[in-house]
Amino acid sequence: MALTASPAQGIQMLSVQPDTKPKGCAGCNRKIKDRYLLKALDKYWHEDCLKCACCDCRLGEVGSTLYTKANLILCRRDYLRLFGVTGNCAACSKLIPAFEMVMRAKENVYHLDCFACQLCNQRFCVGDKFFLKNNMILCQTDYEEGLMKEGYAPQVR
Ligand SMILES: [Zn+2]
Ligand SMILES: [Zn+2]
Ligand SMILES: [Zn+2]
Ligand SMILES: [Zn+2]
Repeated sequence: MALTASPAQGIQMLSVQPDTKPKGCAGCNRKIKDRYLLKALDKYWHEDCLKCACCDCRLGEVGSTLYTKANLILCRRDYLRLFGVTGNCAACSKLIPAFEMVMRAKENVYHLDCFACQLCNQRFCVGDKFFLKNNMILCQTDYEEGLMKEGYAPQVR
């Protein structure tokens, strides 16, 4: 398989000429005797055999592109789910792979491990209150303390 810079590969649907020798399918290794075949990754496939390794959808049907990674053939949706990125963690600014669980606060995403009060490192459980101030995650205590220093009355939302 030729290495390409992009994981996206085109799928072509070809009609089989009756006078040519049947091509072997790269999926099931049987000869393709259908009227149509798919050409992808420089190989020939039955329409049924070119499937996403994750969700089994027929790639010839969902679009004209397939994605490859680590010898897997995937549809766009699964490729992005497995190998895409959610974004940069707002706390440590490293990339977060799409399959990782994240915490979200407004437009920000965080690694689960990074989601803690950035002043006292307190972790939050489901249902705990947290606050976003100047793009920093704060626990309720630190948030209210900050407000008091600024001379505002504490305000719990
Ligand atoms: Zn086949
Ligand atoms: Zn899929
Ligand atoms: Zn992080
Ligand atoms: Zn805190």
